Amino acid sequence: MKYKRLLLKLSGESLMGEKQYGIDPAMLEQYALEIKKVHEMGTQIAIVIGGGNIFRGVQAEKAGIDRVQGDYMGMLATVINAMALQSALEKNGMYTRLMSGIKMEQVCEPFIRRRAVRHLEKNRIVIFGAGIGNPYFTTDSTASLRAIEVEADVVLKGTRVDGVYTADPEKDPTATRYDKISFQEVFEKNLNVMDMTAFTLCHENNLPIIVFDMNKQGNLLKLAQGEDVGTLITA
Ligand code: UDP
Repeated sequence: MKYKRLLLKLSGESLMGEKQYGIDPAMLEQYALEIKKVHEMGTQIAIVIGGGNIFRGVQAEKAGIDRVQGDYMGMLATVINAMALQSALEKNGMYTRLMSGIKMEQVCEPFIRRRAVRHLEKNRIVIFGAGIGNPYFTTDSTASLRAIEVEADVVLKGTRVDGVYTADPEKDPTATRYDKISFQEVFEKNLNVMDMTAFTLCHENNLPIIVFDMNKQGNLLKLAQGEDVGTLITA
């Protein structure tokens, strides 16, 4: 396996599958099986999951809800997704721990870095819920930060597109995909990989990012084994 420890970022929206809102159980099952294949090969896995399928802070403002309040609502939404994913992983025989950026003792452990590392060393899949626990951040930033904290080898950003393109492939049919690109080039070309906070954290800490299509079965395993899938962003 190429990576000893990886951090997988899944968006909340990816859990919707064909639905317009919420969680599609078929997606949970599919992701659990993809994750299992990699875990069985001995790779340590940490996961950050978003909340966009339930609630986003920016939505709150439009609804007349205070932004900060909305962001906390978004963080709670990520915990709902994390619990659903945890359940799907456990149903498929994996040991897991859910650690939250906001204390909620009845539901999950608080995030404590040393404890998270220990869980990973014991081959437990660690899911980080509630973002970093602060408003005005995203779960992409959470993924970068937690990956650095637990010393993951790479951030795998699972999306519905198969990598980073020269332009939005849905709007521009001439757009082409990069197999590999540097952090610097992403800045210069103003490409959309992650929000700037998340991206800068990876750049400054020399943590590679791979953007890939999580919905294509087998992709996660291929990546973990070092095959070229999606777009690799490195120094
Ligand atoms: N959020 C936050 N701080 C964090 C992580 C998330 O305030 O550290 C809030 C923010 O409102 C965000 C929402 O939680 O819109 C859901 O997360 P995100 O939009 O990153 O989810 P995704 O797009 O990955 O589904």
